[in-house]
Amino acid sequence: MAIAVRQPSILPANDRKQPIRSSSGLVEAGLADAAALPMLERVAASFAVSVTDQMAGLIDPTDPHDPVARQFVPTGDELVTTPGELDDPIGDGPYSPVKGIVHRYHDRVLLKAVNVCPVYCRFCFRREMVGPGSETLDGAELDAAIAYIAAHDEVWEVILTGGDPLILSPRRLADIVTRLDAIPHVGIVRFHTRVPVVDPDRVTPELVAALKGRRVTSWLMLHANHWRELNDTARAAIARLVDAGIPLLSQTVLLKGVNDDVETLTRTFRALVQARVKPHYLHQGDLAKGTGHFRTTIQRGRALMKALRGDVSGLCQPTYVLDIPGGHGKVPLTADYLAPDGDGGWTVTDPRGGRHAYSEEVE
Ligand SMILES: *Cc1c(COP(=O)(O)O)cnc(C)c1O
Ligand code: SF4
Repeated sequence: MAIAVRQPSILPANDRKQPIRSSSGLVEAGLADAAALPMLERVAASFAVSVTDQMAGLIDPTDPHDPVARQFVPTGDELVTTPGELDDPIGDGPYSPVKGIVHRYHDRVLLKAVNVCPVYCRFCFRREMVGPGSETLDGAELDAAIAYIAAHDEVWEVILTGGDPLILSPRRLADIVTRLDAIPHVGIVRFHTRVPVVDPDRVTPELVAALKGRRVTSWLMLHANHWRELNDTARAAIARLVDAGIPLLSQTVLLKGVNDDVETLTRTFRALVQARVKPHYLHQGDLAKGTGHFRTTIQRGRALMKALRGDVSGLCQPTYVLDIPGGHGKVPLTADYLAPDGDGGWTVTDPRGGRHAYSEEVE
């Protein structure tokens, strides 16, 4: 694969600053050392690179532990693959009846209309599938995907993901939403996106309008991992969505060296709630290739969640989840607060470790 990747044709032409998409671009922007070029090129040969102007602007190049840089600037650690890491860590493949659809759960499907993103997260769970060259469903493929949804009346929710669906033009998004709107059993269209944070200027009034159907309800799941991503520009983009009546949830990936401490998680979830985004999932890092340096242990993740539970508002508590490798779905990893006491009642453990007897008084 070439290093200097071609601009995907689906990006609207405009005069905004283009993302950094090459190793030399990272060096020129001061985000990587020239000495690192050969390594960067080796990483970029396997995994796509893109850093938007918005994200590059948040990086402090003098901070070797910058949490934004760590998410988007490649490192040699990505060349290290452990034996348990997988090409398809969450097992989308076996559940894909037609191109672009993943139907793993009864009442909802993923619709992957596009496989490119404005940024490429170094820990991406679909890193083998996303990137330039694997761009988007063509007209006939999209027709077939929508025909599948129309033919399956158990599908109540369609989750547009990818890639990042909000990289599509408002015209194309409106076309997809309108076609889903016309399928009576579809009640919800959900957008999984990082755009309001990583490329907030894309959230124009036209784009916001395109997300809303006449009949279906639109929800948006924002991927954000660190409070520093939520600067004024990002919060303004989020406000445009919420003000338009689109409810926002967030998903955060637990990332070593980015957000794996109580202070950062607390500040991140509070910043989301203050921006009117309800923290929904905290993901255990998936077993994607070359991402071992980002993973924390489940024990550590549970301890972090337990620490939040006692001291931080309930609005700021996402569910900590694991996507079981092989396509078996997401399960909560949250610590168990409840155990049978062996005598028909329960022992409940409070967030500080105190144990309390609880007997159910039911008739
Ligand atoms: C994560 C995921 C969903 C959405 O699951 P929710 O728990 O509803 O957020 C749906 N389908 C697939 C294949 C998924 O991986
Ligand atoms: S935005 Fe999502 S799909 Fe795109 S690179 Fe990041 S994690 Fe992967």
